[in-house]
Amino acid sequence: SVFHQIRKKEKKIHAYLDLYEEDAYKRAEQVQKGIEQGIYTGPLAGVPIAVKDNICIRGKKTTCASGILENFIPTYQAEVIDRLEQAGMILIGKTNMDEFAMGSTTETSAFGVTANPWNTEHVPGGSSGGSCAAVAAGEAYMALGSDTGGSIRQPSAFCGVTGIKPTYGTVSRYGLVAYASSLDQIGPVGKNTEDCAALLQVIAGYDPKDSTSLRRELPKPGLTSGKDLKGMRFGVPEEYMAEGMEEGVRKVFLASLKLLEELGAEVEFFSMKTTEYVIPAYYIIACAEASSNLERFDGVKYGFRAAEYQGLHDMYRKTRTQGFGKEVKNRIMLGSFVLSSGYYDAYYLKALKAKALIKKEFDQAFEKYDVILAPAAPHTAPKLGESLKDPLTMYLGDIYTVAVNLCALPAISLPGGFDRKGLPVGFQMIGPCFGENTLIRSAAVFE
Ligand code: GLN
Repeated sequence: SVFHQIRKKEKKIHAYLDLYEEDAYKRAEQVQKGIEQGIYTGPLAGVPIAVKDNICIRGKKTTCASGILENFIPTYQAEVIDRLEQAGMILIGKTNMDEFAMGSTTETSAFGVTANPWNTEHVPGGSSGGSCAAVAAGEAYMALGSDTGGSIRQPSAFCGVTGIKPTYGTVSRYGLVAYASSLDQIGPVGKNTEDCAALLQVIAGYDPKDSTSLRRELPKPGLTSGKDLKGMRFGVPEEYMAEGMEEGVRKVFLASLKLLEELGAEVEFFSMKTTEYVIPAYYIIACAEASSNLERFDGVKYGFRAAEYQGLHDMYRKTRTQGFGKEVKNRIMLGSFVLSSGYYDAYYLKALKAKALIKKEFDQAFEKYDVILAPAAPHTAPKLGESLKDPLTMYLGDIYTVAVNLCALPAISLPGGFDRKGLPVGFQMIGPCFGENTLIRSAAVFE
């Protein structure tokens, strides 16, 4: 079973924050009966799945890898969890992540780092590092992650697995602890495109409990409909090839483009002039929303409260000072600043305008191309500890992933090859809104 593998690997990898071994075995028996009785008929009945620890499961600790939620046990659960259960899937545990999903390495977790299964001296990427490491190490067959600015796609690439960031609004955010609500989406992580497509089918769908949930259903994926990519047009923003990209990543990416051409696709470079705005626009918008979303953790409603304080305001202050980690505090400060009167127009409003321009350029590109191709990150997984010393480089590493969230687009990250250090290199196929099927079909042919 998957717990066998967990016992073998988990000491070194630390993908999980919590494990439900006993529950899982009980549930497996139940599901077995359910399958026999014809209650569970889908392809994922009985499949064990790991869940990122910012997704609520009723009665189970949900910490977001933060001290401020270290003892928070929700009395409700995410819509996606209901859907996993209805599909007969078996929850095996909660996975490690960057605190409140803020980060790219899983190192900002308050509960220790996760190691990359390909080389344990390196990070698994982030923020869904635990989910991707678990799948890569065989400690889970599939996992759920969340993606606000690349947090499914980048760690999938670093761990050599596949991940999908769905079109905004297709998967319910009910029960997902919010980081930046206008950008957050839950999505699947798996060993290949087919697994991710099946899992996406389970979790996607309209949910009245999420006001941004869309009524439009994703069409069922038709994986077998094509064995080549004839007639498909793929565009590559030439700005993405700029310096700063590691040689190993460039080689694998160019080789992937060639392979796509051999499969019959037309691949063409084009200019994406707004590329230089995506990082600043993303970090302003994400931090602004985070500062507002994280207001609720005040020592009253949830989890942790400072032990000693004098009066209400001192309680707030001490609880938040002790409960939040450094990266989260940085972002709350930055977000409060860009939203404050006098700076709102200069930063937040400007970022929204930049976002509109970026969206326009993507819309135009999709008039010409079925799919836009991009690396997942300019580098492979850094060594543990490296990124903490140089946060700016870490932020800049999100260059290929954040525009997708700003524009509500779907994207799949899939393995492309390895660099000279033997670390996985991934790349992305980005589609227009509701273009999941095109992405899934193209990725499946590529595999
Ligand atoms: N690395 C990005 C950030 O730190 C993306 C994180 C995410 O998608 N949750 O904001």
